[in-house]
Amino acid sequence: MSGGALKLRDLRKLADSRAAFEFEIPVDKLPDIPPEFGSGDGQVQAQVRFGREQGFAVADVELRARLQVICQRCMAPMPLVLEAHSPVLLVETEREADEAPAGWETILAPEGRLSLAALVAEELRLAVPIVPVHADPAACGVQAARADVAGEAAEQGAMARPFAELRALLGQRDGKAGN
Ligand SMILES: [Zn+2]
Repeated sequence: MSGGALKLRDLRKLADSRAAFEFEIPVDKLPDIPPEFGSGDGQVQAQVRFGREQGFAVADVELRARLQVICQRCMAPMPLVLEAHSPVLLVETEREADEAPAGWETILAPEGRLSLAALVAEELRLAVPIVPVHADPAACGVQAARADVAGEAAEQGAMARPFAELRALLGQRDGKAGN
C-alpha cells in the first residue's frame, strides 16, 4: 500500500479510532529524506498504531529499514540496517509542541494532517546516526586506501630510500669525524 502511505490523512480521526497500519514502502518514496538514503533500493517495513495520550494524538511507530548512507570517514555509500520503535506525539502547531508533556518526541502535522510515509520518514531521520561510519574497518575505504598506498610504495622500491638517506647521514658524520 505504498500509494496509500503517501495520502494525507486526518490524524485526529485515526487517533480516535485507534487505527493501525502495517506497510512496506521503498525508501526513495519517503518525502524529505536525503537522496542517498533511497539510492540503494532500500525498503522500509513499518507498523504505525494511533491512539490518544493526555488529549494529544499519538502514534507508535515501529520500523525496520534497509537504506544507504554516506560513510563520514571514507565518504563512500554504505548500506545501513535500522530498527526503530518509538511513540511520538502528533502536534498541529509549534505552540502545541511547546505545551506537549515532557519526555515526548513530537512530530508536527499541520492542521492535523500527515501521510503515513511522512511519519515514517521523520522517524527514520531520527533513527539514522548523525555521523554514520563503516562499522567494519575492513569495509571502510579510508583503511583500504592506506593499505594501497603502502603496497604501491613497496612495489616502486621506495622502501629502499630510507637506507639511501641513512648512508648519506653516515657519510656526513664520517666527514665531520674526519675533520
Ligand atoms: Zn567508510
